[in-house]
Amino acid sequence: MRKPMVAGNWKMNGTSSFAAQMSMQMNQHLASNDSVDVVLAPPALLLSQVQSAASEYACAAQNMHFEQSGAYTGETSVAMLEDVGCAYVLIGHSERREMFAENELIIAKKVAACLASNVTPVLCIGETLTQRKNGEAFAVVKQQVLSALENVTVESGEVVIAYEPIWAIGTGETATPEQAQEIHCYIREVLATEISAELAQKTRILYGGSVSATTASQLFSQPDIDGGLVGGASLKIEDFKIICSAAAN
Ligand code: PEP
Repeated sequence: MRKPMVAGNWKMNGTSSFAAQMSMQMNQHLASNDSVDVVLAPPALLLSQVQSAASEYACAAQNMHFEQSGAYTGETSVAMLEDVGCAYVLIGHSERREMFAENELIIAKKVAACLASNVTPVLCIGETLTQRKNGEAFAVVKQQVLSALENVTVESGEVVIAYEPIWAIGTGETATPEQAQEIHCYIREVLATEISAELAQKTRILYGGSVSATTASQLFSQPDIDGGLVGGASLKIEDFKIICSAAAN
């Protein structure tokens, strides 16, 4: 009942000619394929271009500010994302948590600002290697989910969650399908027990962390993995097409 989703996070990569090529190829590849939602997350400067070219995919921003407008030099508001037709935004990616000091309060404010708009948040969570080794992975993801979704109910609107173990991001080391399924199932249980069973059933939980054309289909065949958030491989057009097709099947 949950439609699979694949989102490609370009991070700080890409040019306008890459964007034009990727947009055209994805429109062609996804034509009349209604069984997967594909989302492209280019850098902010390319968002408008990639969105304008979209006929078969949606766009995500990689970040946003929680205020609507004002003296926040360098920032982009959710109202601006709506204005260019952007449907999703990544919130709390581990690189933003680590390098740009995004804390749980800021992340919760961003989620709330999204839910007051028409832009769906893709909430990124995941534990470090040390936390996993110390047996803290479950507690960490629970805390991240509950702090970000404070005051969220089933009526609040759609939230997508991306479980991205930090030790697997950009490292070439993917969580095994079993490791990922275990955490995804737990996240759904947390949603069900702490927020609502309906929200738990509806919410798409994506896996992220070195997803590749070879690992995607096994990961996506797990019952609680509803697709992927893909970094490095989303810049390789042919690999990304294979990953999208793996989710569609
Ligand atoms: C990401 O940045 O969200 C990500 C999962 O990156 P990669 O696929 O390169 O590990």
